[in-house]
Amino acid sequence: MSYSMSRRQFVGIASGALAATGLALAGCGGSQSSSSSSSSSSDSSSGFSKSSYTVATDTTFAPFEFTDASGNFVGIDVDILAKAAELTGFKYELNSLGFDAAVAALESNQADAVIAGMSITDARKQKYDFSDPYYDSYVCMAVKSGSSISGYEDLNGKTVAAKTGTMGATCAESLAPKYGFTLTYFDDSSIMYQDVLTGNSVACFEDYPVMSYGITQGNGLQIVTEEKDDYSTPYGFAVMKGKNQDLLSAFNEGLSKMKDSGDYDAIVNKYLKG
Ligand code: GLN
Repeated sequence: MSYSMSRRQFVGIASGALAATGLALAGCGGSQSSSSSSSSSSDSSSGFSKSSYTVATDTTFAPFEFTDASGNFVGIDVDILAKAAELTGFKYELNSLGFDAAVAALESNQADAVIAGMSITDARKQKYDFSDPYYDSYVCMAVKSGSSISGYEDLNGKTVAAKTGTMGATCAESLAPKYGFTLTYFDDSSIMYQDVLTGNSVACFEDYPVMSYGITQGNGLQIVTEEKDDYSTPYGFAVMKGKNQDLLSAFNEGLSKMKDSGDYDAIVNKYLKG
């Protein structure tokens, strides 16, 4: 996946105006950003090594990032990033690429950071530096509501959906040989759910907070298994190991401040209503 597949780009401005105006749509689909904000132009006045950072995110991962009914790109990740920027003064452009594409953009230096409900796993910690954790999560498996599939034993010979590059996919891959199911991969959570609803896949693996939120929004699925032991890790904001440390520190500083002030709880409650 290349950066040029960016579906949407959003610009964050570290000023008080941000909260009032929301994120401005800066560009849409198609070609690479001409502002090339991942270049290393420094901005000594702000104290940051770059005048603007490129942050990559997922496309549809509600309540962390998604497009709301009014067409605004919103979510817990989107708001936390905006608040951290407002509190600490960094500027950024948010690119909604998809999870796997966001990580690929980070690895190819086309993004400075990822915020995408990204699980802090031991394997990933070898390659990326993560912020302090900001939300607890674990993997679950969901089926179409009313399905006769009630556990892994019912998956023999069936097709099961997973999202490319995710912890849910890693979990599914570890179970597939034992339970005799075949995996089919998607880049986007909502398209993965659709595959289950149409019956092509009998189940899908997803993060619990995202699946449970989707169910409350009427996505037509139901959770049948929960992996609270081996596949339970919090989410973090990621940069490549040893790179963009000023941005990482600023994110952590902003996160800590918003946890102390109650702004963090307000953001989460805005989407999850307590
Ligand atoms: N939390 C999961 C992971 O990091 C899924 C993230 C996502 O799909 N955006 O693998």
